[in-house]
Formats: sequence, structure tokens, C-alpha cells
Amino acid sequence: MGTPVKDIKIPDDAPTEFLAEKHSAFIHSYESEKNQYEYVMTEYLRMGGVYWCLTSMALLQKLDEMAKDEILDFVKSCQHSCGGFGASINHDPHLLYTLSAVQILALYEEIETIDISKTVAFIGELQQEDGSFVGDKWGEKDSRFSFCALACLALLGRLDAINLEKAVDFVVSCMNFDGGFGCVPGSESHAGQVYCCVGALAIANCLHHVNADLLGWWLCERQLPSGGLNGRPEKLPDVCYSWWVLSALKVIGKLHWIDKKKLCRFILASQDEDGGIADRPGDMVDPFHTLFGISGLSLLGYDKNKILDVDPVFCLPVQTVRKLGINSQLLF
Ligand SMILES: [Zn+2]
Repeated sequence: MGTPVKDIKIPDDAPTEFLAEKHSAFIHSYESEKNQYEYVMTEYLRMGGVYWCLTSMALLQKLDEMAKDEILDFVKSCQHSCGGFGASINHDPHLLYTLSAVQILALYEEIETIDISKTVAFIGELQQEDGSFVGDKWGEKDSRFSFCALACLALLGRLDAINLEKAVDFVVSCMNFDGGFGCVPGSESHAGQVYCCVGALAIANCLHHVNADLLGWWLCERQLPSGGLNGRPEKLPDVCYSWWVLSALKVIGKLHWIDKKKLCRFILASQDEDGGIADRPGDMVDPFHTLFGISGLSLLGYDKNKILDVDPVFCLPVQTVRKLGINSQLLF
């Protein structure tokens, strides 16, 4: 006898239509409430927050409603003399926030306005002997940071600045017998890590290392009867996994293995009537799950008039990535 599946039940009165207008209003309210407790308490991830909000708006074709000059001033004031970016002004530089900063600059076609060579040097110095990356000079290695480094360098057009072969070797060494990937060699497969490792291999043009059938099967097993996806076995479904799982399925050509209709229903049900998307129906909404809910719907091909096509590797509109001369569709 198997253990009962951990899952949720979608409430009968949950939304069934995409609330595009409400979501942009939610992002605007988040932007304007700068003195509120929640905003102050999340300073440690401010750069990430700006990226989630902006990319949500860009996918909804409303980027021009955001305070461009103010945002660009903020991003640039978070850059350190070493070239890396911090989460906020006077916060230490880190690869995670450096990627968010570069993604924001890409959205505004402003990459050329920063000192690219310094940022490239910052990333290069974080590569270790075994090809892995640490997030900052004190941090531990993690395949997440391999993705951050490669994605940043690809957007900056400087993949030549690191030892790419070794970087790929490390990512491949994180692959498990189930086809998935962990944060370091030997650690359990996790959908977030799968996204990072598959994305890194796509950027390096090395997807031949992936066992697409095996990995596709593991990823599809993340879908629960409610239609939502979890990150690993025995966990509850969560909207952000619509992104981590779906983007990896898209890259390995197995997106059609998922029950799209049921997943759409789960994401739509996780919307708040007043805007924003939560991790699952009935929970508090936030910009993180709003972006990954919208991005998930984009990959599912839901209402192409309202949501732009998202790039499954860089989590930016496809048109933004193309403008940088990157056609990631050619990579997979
Ligand atoms: Zn989540």
C-alpha cells in the first residue's frame, strides 16, 4: 500500500480566468508601498524583488508603466567596485543579485551602460578548481550558482571568460540516477536544481549530457492530482514549480508530457481576486509567485494576447533575449 498523496483541493470558488489587470495593479501597489513593514523586512532580496516585478510587467506588456529611471539608478547604485551587485544599497555583492541586476538591465536594453568587464571579472573569480561556482567569496558551491554565472555571462556576451568545460563537468557531476540534479554531487534531486542545471547545460550547448526520457519522467511525476507541481516527492504543490519544472521540460522537449489543462487550472486558482498569485490556492500572494505563475502560463501557451512568450532558460521575454543576439530556441 502506498502512502496517500500529499496534495491540496482546489476550492470551488477559486478564479478560473486570468486576471491580467489585477496583477499589474498588485505589482504597482507593491512598488508604491516602500515604507511598509513588509517592504522594509525584505530588503535582503530587494534586487530579486525588482526583477520579479519588472519581468511580470514585461510579460504582461506593461513594462513602460514602471519607474524606469528610478529603477536603473537603484540597480547601478547596488554595483560594487569589484563589479558584483548586492541585493540593496550597501549590501555585499552576490551572484544571485548580480544575475537579477543583469536581467533588469537586459529588460531595459541598458547592459552597455555598466562596466561589463568588471562584472565579468567578479563572476570569473567565483569559479572554483573543480569548475563549480560559489555565490560570493564566503559561500559554498552549489549548482544554482553555476547557472547564475553562466546565465549572467551569456547575457553579457562573455561566456569565454570562464573555463566552460570545467563548469559543465561540475554540473554533470550533480546528475543523479533518477535523471534529476542536486545542488552538489550526491545530493537529492530537486526541481529548482534541475532548472538550474538544465539551463546551464543549455547555455553551454551541452544538453547531450541529459537523459531526456529519464529526466522527463521524473519531472512529470511532480504533477499531483490537483494539477499543481511539487519540487520533489512527498511535498505539496507550489506555483513556482510550474516554472522550475515546466521550463526544464520545455528545454528537453517534453513539455507535452504534462497535463497542461490541469496545471493551468491550478495556477489560475492560486490567483487572488485582488491581484497577485500565491504558492497555492488561498495563500498570501507575493511578486515571486506572481512572476512564476505568469511565466508558467506563458510556457503553457495560455492566452498569447495577454502574456508574451517567456524564454525558458533566462526567464525574460523571448524578445528581450533575442535583442541580445541570443536565440536560445536554437540551443534545444
Ligand atoms: Zn514556491
